[in-house]
Amino acid sequence: MPAAEQQCALCGSRTLLTFHHLIPRTLHRNKWFRKNFELTDMRERGIVVCRRCHSFIHRQFDEKQLGREFNTLAKLLANEAVVRHSQWSKKHRH
Ligand SMILES: [Zn+2]
Ligand SMILES: [Zn+2]
Repeated sequence: MPAAEQQCALCGSRTLLTFHHLIPRTLHRNKWFRKNFELTDMRERGIVVCRRCHSFIHRQFDEKQLGREFNTLAKLLANEAVVRHSQWSKKHRH
């Protein structure tokens, strides 16, 4: 598969893709995150998601939660609400 052919990490949609920072940008200056992550890591660490999944993520979790508890794709996918959303979104293609 060509690298350019991106799809949403949660539901597989190929439309309206956006970049989600697994550690939200507003936290990059925060002491705790500075201590635990390299700045370049925080900047580059992200996933491609469709707008629908993106707004779901930010509706479901606040930024500190995202940065501390859901800072990898695997952690997000292990969350029950995320799984439910992704199944729903796959069924309702856009
Ligand atoms: Zn999606
Ligand atoms: Zn985001």
